[in-house]
Amino acid sequence: MEITRFAPSPTGHLHIGGGRTALFSYLFAKANKGKFLLRFEDTDQDRSKGEYVDSILNSLHWMQIKLDSEPVYQSKKIVKHKELAIELYKKGFAYACDCSEETLTKMREQQVAKKLKPKYNGLNRNKNIEFAEGMVLRFKFPLEGESKFKDLILGDIAINNKEFDDFIILRSDGSPTYNFSAAVDDMDMKITTVIRGDDHITNTLKQINVLEALGATIPRYAHLPMVLAESGKRLSKRDGAEDILDYKKKGYLSDALINYLVRLGWSYGEEEIFSLEKLQKIFDLSDVNSSPSKYSQDLLNWYNNKYLNFLSAEELVIKVKENSGVDFREIDNGNLAISLLAKGANSLNQIAEDSIYFFEEPQIKFDALNVDANKKILFSEFCKQLKKIDFEKNSIEKYIKEFLQANNLKFPELGKPLRVILTGRENAPSISELLFILGKETSLKRIEYTLDD
Ligand code: GLU
Repeated sequence: MEITRFAPSPTGHLHIGGGRTALFSYLFAKANKGKFLLRFEDTDQDRSKGEYVDSILNSLHWMQIKLDSEPVYQSKKIVKHKELAIELYKKGFAYACDCSEETLTKMREQQVAKKLKPKYNGLNRNKNIEFAEGMVLRFKFPLEGESKFKDLILGDIAINNKEFDDFIILRSDGSPTYNFSAAVDDMDMKITTVIRGDDHITNTLKQINVLEALGATIPRYAHLPMVLAESGKRLSKRDGAEDILDYKKKGYLSDALINYLVRLGWSYGEEEIFSLEKLQKIFDLSDVNSSPSKYSQDLLNWYNNKYLNFLSAEELVIKVKENSGVDFREIDNGNLAISLLAKGANSLNQIAEDSIYFFEEPQIKFDALNVDANKKILFSEFCKQLKKIDFEKNSIEKYIKEFLQANNLKFPELGKPLRVILTGRENAPSISELLFILGKETSLKRIEYTLDD
């Protein structure tokens, strides 16, 4: 059975790139009727924080990613990992090293002076130093040949073993290092496919060697190309590398974010809209693009607008209330108002922000309209006749058309100021819909307020 995992270090919130990695890992497991596991790599005691564990769990929950088992906390396995590192040492796959900081610094300086890549030069590799507490254990990296694997996205990857050094698996304080613990945990958790960012490619080659030394089955690996900013540079906070939960706060729908994230590097013919349910059936790593993808706020907004409009008015009312406290049930025609606003909105928050004029009188005086004073009579006339008509959408539309014709006016001459009168804004939805949703009494009250001296 396919088993995948997401292995964040809880040293920060889950951002766009991490969210996408988790999603791809989850979808791949589900599409193969497998399991998705979560492992917190929380061994860095200074930087790992409980609040980040909670925030990552909340983010995954909001993204509708379900775990098939309780999360694993790597920090709880330090003792076991240490034992295993010592076992590798006893079997000859690792060696003890007592090089001082000074020796290592000198080594580095000499290499830099010779324009060589700084790395541990194997000084103690063949000295058979007996391990004692306070020493480090180094992995005996193969000296000849190359380390390789076939990446499920990137294809064949091979690096000459001379590029690597005998990296530390157990630090002098007795704590295991990332490349050792990650390999051991992937073995323990019986991970079949490791899916993570392509910044881990060299780590993968190290981990494969550790797994071979441990006699473990080597999982398959898939490295996801980076998500870049629109500029092509690294994604920074400003571009949207932010906390996944910020998107929730800003009024993005999780279905929209999921759809957007999955399209960051994955495609399926020409289709653009995917439900999570469908993704859980069709997702495959072979459809992941091997070049980096670019974050686009506009595209995310486009998706969110689409998904907002998939919701019924009732669902929108509940979600807007949850997100911003604005309750469309407090106004007449609340369902119509919210559906109208959703058409032009990119987020739940925008619906709430744009809705003010349904809740409060804009109170615009004629002088503020930037309209010729002699047009005032025209508006009075419009108002007078509006009182008489039947307030249905069709009749309002028909009346506006006739009024424009009779007075030889172009639509904006009436529409623009009227929009400001009714909403206090220049950009607002269709006039006839606005009049209809606000209702006769409110509409007339607003126009009369404007016309009153
Ligand atoms: N903890 C690592 C990170 O957050 C991920 C390691 C992995 O997926 O193996 O970058």
